[in-house]
Amino acid sequence: MYAIDIWSDENFFIDKGLVKVNHKSSPSLLEITQAIRKRNIRGPLVLRFPHLIEQQIQKVYQNFNRAIEENSYKGKFQAVFPLKVNQYANVIKPMMEYGKKMAYGLEAGSKAELILAIAHTPLGSPITVNGFKDQEMITLGFIAAQMGHNITLIIEGLGELEWIIEVAQKSHLKIPQVGLRVRLHSSGGGAWAKSGGMDAKFGLNATEILEAIDLLQKSFLLEKLHMIHFHIGSQMEEIAPLKKALREAGNLYAELKKLGANSLCAINIGGGLAVEYAQDPNRRIRNYSLEEFCNDVVFLIGDIMDAKGVQHPDIYTESGRYIVAHHAVLITPVLELFSQDYQEKHLRLKESNPPLVEELSELNSLINPKNCIEYMHDALDHLESLFTLFDLGYIDLVDRSNAEILAHQIIKKTLSLSMGEANLEFKRLQERHQERYLLNSSFFQSIPDYWGLGQNFPVMPLHYLNSEKTLHPASLCDITCDSDGEIAFNSDAPLYLHDIDLDTEEYFLAFFNIGAYQETLGMQHNLFSKPNEATVIISDNNYEIILLEESKSLLKVIESVGYSANETLKKLEKKLEDSDFITEKEKDDTLRQLKYYLHQNSYLRTTN
Ligand SMILES: *Cc1c(COP(=O)(O)O)cnc(C)c1O
Repeated sequence: MYAIDIWSDENFFIDKGLVKVNHKSSPSLLEITQAIRKRNIRGPLVLRFPHLIEQQIQKVYQNFNRAIEENSYKGKFQAVFPLKVNQYANVIKPMMEYGKKMAYGLEAGSKAELILAIAHTPLGSPITVNGFKDQEMITLGFIAAQMGHNITLIIEGLGELEWIIEVAQKSHLKIPQVGLRVRLHSSGGGAWAKSGGMDAKFGLNATEILEAIDLLQKSFLLEKLHMIHFHIGSQMEEIAPLKKALREAGNLYAELKKLGANSLCAINIGGGLAVEYAQDPNRRIRNYSLEEFCNDVVFLIGDIMDAKGVQHPDIYTESGRYIVAHHAVLITPVLELFSQDYQEKHLRLKESNPPLVEELSELNSLINPKNCIEYMHDALDHLESLFTLFDLGYIDLVDRSNAEILAHQIIKKTLSLSMGEANLEFKRLQERHQERYLLNSSFFQSIPDYWGLGQNFPVMPLHYLNSEKTLHPASLCDITCDSDGEIAFNSDAPLYLHDIDLDTEEYFLAFFNIGAYQETLGMQHNLFSKPNEATVIISDNNYEIILLEESKSLLKVIESVGYSANETLKKLEKKLEDSDFITEKEKDDTLRQLKYYLHQNSYLRTTN
């Protein structure tokens, strides 16, 4: 069942052969997809479920507040969403609306993100600013403070602090709070470990921290120092590095308090809370639960402060992946099964066939679980001989086609009859005779971390989940002409998909947990643009599709790489005008057709 119990976190479940959303009226992903396709939307589709963002925010607050209560912790819990994880309006606007009541804020790492944070964070909810800054970006922070925002500029280096002091002295704007990003000697694990550790790209080392305190003191700004911050890296697989980081940061905090940083009142532990993407029970990624994570953070910070006689600080988190990964699902229509041509219905057997073809035909009809391996070996042997006969001119094209179809059928049946066998031969056979499914989608656009980092995203069909259909070992190909746009069959973590006759049936696959990082990282390779998208609001006895946005039209796509739509249209029209042997009417009709195409999106429209 595609390990849905591992990666879905109970957000989705299987019922009556369909994947359903585990919320209120529980619609199936298939019915939602079909309702949208009825509106003439084709190609890949991103479905957003805002209830899953709300659920994740709520889980994080509830668990931290529970841990705070259980540990009699004196500080508050506060959280911000790091915009770099997903900046899209259809994500951020509903998120901020929901988060108002718990004062959920935003984190910005660039000027554009800072503008979004200032515009969309409610006054009173925190804004944190990380990343490298110039004087302009720092001034934007002052402007936000002037508007009444609770904003903290977290400095990455002493240069930034000097600029803050300069802007404070030059302007009459309100001064924002200041945070220090500390460079810990302990770092996280996994692919993003570079965010922490002694050689990290970010943060101040011990000597620089002392200098920062001096600088702040000299310019009478020490009372603005409000927070220390660290981030040990995204998708933290194990809890141990976080504990080390917490001890180090906790002690740094206590030391700073001793040095006279009286206004210091918050530790910001960054993000890194991991999401389970594994689709194999033996390869779970995360070794801790949210409960454990919150308990450790609250207990360890409290423990260090108690030991040093320092008041408990407020705890800030900047979890991004954990908040939004689950909310988005990519639905991709299957356009083709590559070996579809090898169906038995395409056989053209003659009155009299070459003896080896007759034998293949017999093997094909008599194959059973007991004899399948032997029959399959015979079939491969016969096929080889038949190819030789063809090369020597002894059999014709029809014989050859029959031989290929029959051999393929026998292999297919063998694979399905011996499914579950773990022997080497079977694995080899699967790898050689996997079925390739062509998806109406671009992996570069929709799951770039698969391409860039080898990140696995759980994938499964939306339907046929209780059918008796034959299963194939499957590899997935996208429609870019790049050989990297393929998810190969892996016999160690096999994916099996259904045998579908696409002439008569539709088949949709869904990729899950794609809501974090993928959307802005996605690239227009081959000029495939962002997929269609829709937001789905589920109620007690129904669901509603809102914010339906179609993928960009061809004209918009070519505009995005610097061509004028008008000029392109004119060039195309002129070429048609100048063409020979075409009547005025044909010209008009063709032009109309061309214009219609130009307003379609770049994905394929071959499925009905
Ligand atoms: C990227 C980033 C985050 C978010 O990390 P997640 O793993 O998505 O939770 C938080 N804080 C900072 C400073 C970051 O750079």
